[in-house]
Amino acid sequence: MSTAALLSARIAPPTAAAARRRDGASLLTLNAGSSSIKFALFAADGPQLGIVGQIEGIGATAAFHAHSVDGRIDEHHAWQDGHGPIDHADALTWIIAWLAQKQPGLDVVAVGHRVVHGGLAYAAPVLIDDDVVNRLAQLEPLAPLHQPHNLAGVAAARAAFGRVPQVACFDTAFHRDHPFVNDTFALPRELYDAGVRRYGFHGLSYEYIALRLRESFPMHVAGRVLVAHLGNGASMCAMRDGRSVASTMGFSALDGLPMGTRCGQLDPGVLLYLMQHEGMRPEQIAELLYKRSGLKGLSGGLSHDMRTLEAAGTREADEAIDYFVFRIKREIGGLAAALEGLDAVVFTGGIGENSARIRARVLQGMAWLGIELDEARNRAGDTVISSTRSRVLCLRIPTDEEGMIARHTLEVAFEGARA
Ligand code: ADP
Repeated sequence: MSTAALLSARIAPPTAAAARRRDGASLLTLNAGSSSIKFALFAADGPQLGIVGQIEGIGATAAFHAHSVDGRIDEHHAWQDGHGPIDHADALTWIIAWLAQKQPGLDVVAVGHRVVHGGLAYAAPVLIDDDVVNRLAQLEPLAPLHQPHNLAGVAAARAAFGRVPQVACFDTAFHRDHPFVNDTFALPRELYDAGVRRYGFHGLSYEYIALRLRESFPMHVAGRVLVAHLGNGASMCAMRDGRSVASTMGFSALDGLPMGTRCGQLDPGVLLYLMQHEGMRPEQIAELLYKRSGLKGLSGGLSHDMRTLEAAGTREADEAIDYFVFRIKREIGGLAAALEGLDAVVFTGGIGENSARIRARVLQGMAWLGIELDEARNRAGDTVISSTRSRVLCLRIPTDEEGMIARHTLEVAFEGARA
């Protein structure tokens, strides 16, 4: 069957909430980055995850991989230079056609998008219409390396799915209740009023962790909790009663902890120096701070990837890891002070979930805060990794941002909860 025929076969716009109960009704989540689209397909009545995958290297050397939760599908596909999808719309068309082949009768009844910035206006997910798209486009200057790509994903999905309801889920939304002192910089007031604020990111991940804590550790979620989301992007969130009260991320996704290629906290005087004495232009500085700094920069360009650095054993790689660990420990101290104590610490994200070594190093020497690690549980990757004597409960909980998007999308698209 041709791609066009596959597409027209599966785009049947739902007319009512009953659409999600139809046999084979699916929910698609999309997370569009600068040159990638990650996707996940859920059964719409669950939402139960079925298939997850991504296309990377859009417009250059593109590659696709996807697998199904039941193990039935595990596919990889690499295009030769310049022969793969040329843009997000092209990539999404390819993904939809592939999904329709794998799942005959595919019936997508809603699409959920990860959108990095909701600005001041959006403290919750929202049904996407033209007005929402225009408002989100106005936020592009606040997240120039993420927001335009997120919106390219939205445009591609709207073109492909027509009237199927689409929902924007924001990385900033979970943090919108921050008290003023955690929401502001010490700049002239008019900049705060104009939206120059500490927005905080990774909100979908933190919201999911809060949900899991509420289910499994209700006593602790009611208290003072620190969550460390440590992946290629990394940040920490201080929660009280399951709500964010502070984040290490600020105005952009650059602040706080060092990341794979992003610098983390930086003295703004460095930027002035680079501009005034090194003659760097804004776009060169952006490239330096977003793409050449963090673990990659500190390791002498070796890698942004923690696994590679842990295996390398060079002085630069070790020092990059030392700095990463040091900054996390520093933030734990600062955020615990902001919370006036600590009841639980949670590790999540690719590094937080998988590197027992990083977790152990972060929690070493934290007895003063009431933290005592159980080395064996930590090595085994248990959920609870603190000892029975530890006053602070330490946890390892895999995050599920796609699952969070799916829940929000069903709620907003079919229950009108926040539409
Ligand atoms: P993203 O922010 O792109 O979603 P992830 O949450 O997938 O990133 O995290 C990617 C990071 O997790 C990489 O630095 C990778 O090396 C690290 N990681 C994944 N598995 C392991 C592991 N077993 N040990 C150490 N680091 C790991």
